[in-house]
Amino acid sequence: MADPVRMCVGCRAHAPKKELIRIVRTPDGQIVADAKGKTPGRGAYICRKAECLQKARKNRALERMLAASISPETYDALEAAVTEEHG
Ligand SMILES: [Zn+2]
Repeated sequence: MADPVRMCVGCRAHAPKKELIRIVRTPDGQIVADAKGKTPGRGAYICRKAECLQKARKNRALERMLAASISPETYDALEAAVTEEHG
């Protein structure tokens, strides 16, 4: 069976889910990077690249996708998570 494919909110390229990182708005309103893909809540996917997060930050695609406003501190934390060592 093929891997599920998701679209990056930054570059809008499609890629297998496992190559992307999921960003979730949790039920209590936190915006977190979900490395395991198990956190409940509304999610968006993004490539593991700082440039994709920066694009999504600039055009607010991530905020639209999650229907939430995202603080600069949260973006910084997400960028760190996105660019973390793979695996
Ligand atoms: Zn991307």
